[in-house]
Amino acid sequence: MKFGGTSVADLERIRNVARHVKREMDAGQEVAVVVSAMAGKTNELVAWCRETGSHFDNEEYDAIVASGELVTAGLLALALRDMGFQARSWQGWQIPILTDDAHGAARIQKIDGRALIEGFGRREIAVVAGFQGVHARTNRVTTLGRGGSDTSAVGLAAAIGADRCDIYTDVDGVYTTDPRVVPKARRLDKVSFEEMLEMASLGAKVLQVRSVEMAMVHKVRLYVRSSFDDPANPKLGTLICDEEDIMEQQIVTGIAFSRDEGQITLRDVADKPGVAAAIFGPLADANINVDMIIQVVSDDTTTTDLTFTVSGADFERAKSILANSREAIGFTKLSGAQDVVKISAIGVGMRSHSGVAARAFRALADKGINIRAITTSEIKFSVLIDEAYTELAVRTLHTLYGLDARG
Ligand code: ASP
Ligand code: MG
Repeated sequence: MKFGGTSVADLERIRNVARHVKREMDAGQEVAVVVSAMAGKTNELVAWCRETGSHFDNEEYDAIVASGELVTAGLLALALRDMGFQARSWQGWQIPILTDDAHGAARIQKIDGRALIEGFGRREIAVVAGFQGVHARTNRVTTLGRGGSDTSAVGLAAAIGADRCDIYTDVDGVYTTDPRVVPKARRLDKVSFEEMLEMASLGAKVLQVRSVEMAMVHKVRLYVRSSFDDPANPKLGTLICDEEDIMEQQIVTGIAFSRDEGQITLRDVADKPGVAAAIFGPLADANINVDMIIQVVSDDTTTTDLTFTVSGADFERAKSILANSREAIGFTKLSGAQDVVKISAIGVGMRSHSGVAARAFRALADKGINIRAITTSEIKFSVLIDEAYTELAVRTLHTLYGLDARG
């Protein structure tokens, strides 16, 4: 059972979480719980790190930001004891949850589940601090990247051979799109791992991308459900599972969107071999992920135009790297825009149906929405449009693919 920041935001909510755990214990289950820090805590710790001085250090950053989860793990153990259960808190290094040394975005390498399993024999509940691990060689605390408690939970579930991993959050499951944008969004009963991976990567914020990857690899059955349901009688939420376990498959399962995009255009780039490498090589060296790429077809001229997108966080850095390599690349003009949004439709049904994206292009055109860039892959397509049209475009596609709730 994993509980996110809003589910453990204060003592009353922590007691409420304990009631959810009680239900499972009373039903005879063996339970390991993973907790996030209280809502807002990690942001505060991150801000403190920045404000302390200019000697930023990744290892100390991790030592500091990992502390939020220590508090909630201890408090939940206390609340469970108060209900008469045996419970203890676990910090990442105590289990241990071993990771690489990529501080701030470490990857789990190995989790030893034995101590926890031993505790289950004594009916002891393990309350584990999410988001953190330890690097074996340096013995330093690491963190798994923002939202990393999801990954802690899935990793732990795999390590102890759990029957299931329930991710409790402040919504009651995965929706066809963000209900704040489309009131007719529907909760999905089941989503395949692959679709969930795309949705999470393309902007849906329910689960950390890595947690879905890990669940897919280790075949962990994941439920996304709400901690605000009645602890005695909660709803099951959304099951993330293998594609084969989903009988009635829609062509499109969900619409995701991300406003965190920057578009960069280079004009009059020399049209000769090696130019793409000259542009994208330095960006890759700077760890900047490039997403959509459009190159205008070259005709008889000797130059071409090139447009691509990066995440909003990398936008300024990417522009300055390109400006610095202007000589090597040879372009006449560099321009950029951040008032763009990437809207994606996801569904495994696209593998076997043609014309799925074409219908969207027509529908968007009918609403007067101009498409700046397009990408497609096996189970999704994305369009880049002006941010001002976000709501209209998402609603249009949601209706077009029959995702609106009935009634
Ligand atoms: N507390 C961490 C964060 O806010 C990890 C998590 O909540 O999953 O990113
Ligand atoms: Mg989260």
